[in-house]
Amino acid sequence: MGEFDLIRRFFQRPVRRAALGVGDDCALLAPAPGMQLAVSSDMLVEGRHFFADVDPRLLGHKCLAVNLSDLAACGARPLAFTLALSLPRADAAWTEAFAGGLLALADAHGCELVGGDTTQGPLNICITVFGEVPPGQALLRSGARAGDDIWVSGSLGDARLALEALLGHTTLPPGTLAAARQRLEAPTPRVALGQALRGIASSALDVSDGLLGDLGHILAQSRVGASLDTRLITPLLDAGRHTPLAIDLLHQCTLSGGDDYELCFTAPADRRDAVQAAGRDSATRVTRIGCIEEQPGLRLIGPDGAAMAPRWTSFDHFAAA
Ligand code: ADP
Ligand code: MG
Repeated sequence: MGEFDLIRRFFQRPVRRAALGVGDDCALLAPAPGMQLAVSSDMLVEGRHFFADVDPRLLGHKCLAVNLSDLAACGARPLAFTLALSLPRADAAWTEAFAGGLLALADAHGCELVGGDTTQGPLNICITVFGEVPPGQALLRSGARAGDDIWVSGSLGDARLALEALLGHTTLPPGTLAAARQRLEAPTPRVALGQALRGIASSALDVSDGLLGDLGHILAQSRVGASLDTRLITPLLDAGRHTPLAIDLLHQCTLSGGDDYELCFTAPADRRDAVQAAGRDSATRVTRIGCIEEQPGLRLIGPDGAAMAPRWTSFDHFAAA
């Protein structure tokens, strides 16, 4: 199978909302008049972001999920995406499964594949997503103010817990591992919640590298500090007390574990009801975990209710070993 057969067979589909899709030199997008385009790219590299033997269907899902998560964090509605793909070989079964996972998630969000590039090389996937958002309504990292509440969606730490188990650093009962693995390999982008938070949240981002580091971006760009109550931040799997985790592992997963793709956002304290309503409307759990303060820096409340030193740092590809 050649390059163009592969594209035609697995990636070329009729477009509905875009003006022109796969097959020409450029795709043409048709955002609603007056809307701003929200654009984001994410690259996934074998050995860095996924294991070589990962299920291609799950990989297809995850590649798009992490990109949709960026649109969610900005409160944008997904429109379209492009796919730049480097493949070791033209493997029909692998590509079909990959495209299946990718396009199922795309269809669920009405996000159309409109173009891309395909080359032979080490497995590497780069997606660029396009979304639309009313002017002035995008959720940014820079809008948090002293007195705002800090919220997270869903649960944090499950993906990292799965990774720790897969790497043999901890053991989990089979049912728990399967559930954690699902969170690692097939994350749910909080697209509906992001849009529901427009006009309510003062700042937002998605947690991809770990809560402490990612919240740090909001604090830096908003020039504020914060207090977090670590007792309120739980992985889904621990919340049910299926596997009470050692406190160190719990903190490592919830505070510095990445890959959960939940939203962390701030909102004025008088908008608590509106935040809860946004959670209900989007069928997404939201939990208040702390507050924004004028004093710079991040203060943690530990398991006993006393101050706790932040020991864990976030993921950084180029951090000194
Ligand atoms: P060009 O060389 O002009 O950039 P290509 O020959 O690389 O175009 O690609 C042909 C068409 O197929 C283009 O419309 C391009 O957007 C699309 N395309 C290439 N690879 C992919 C892919 N992996 N997924 C979707 N569309 C793709
Ligand atoms: Mg090309």
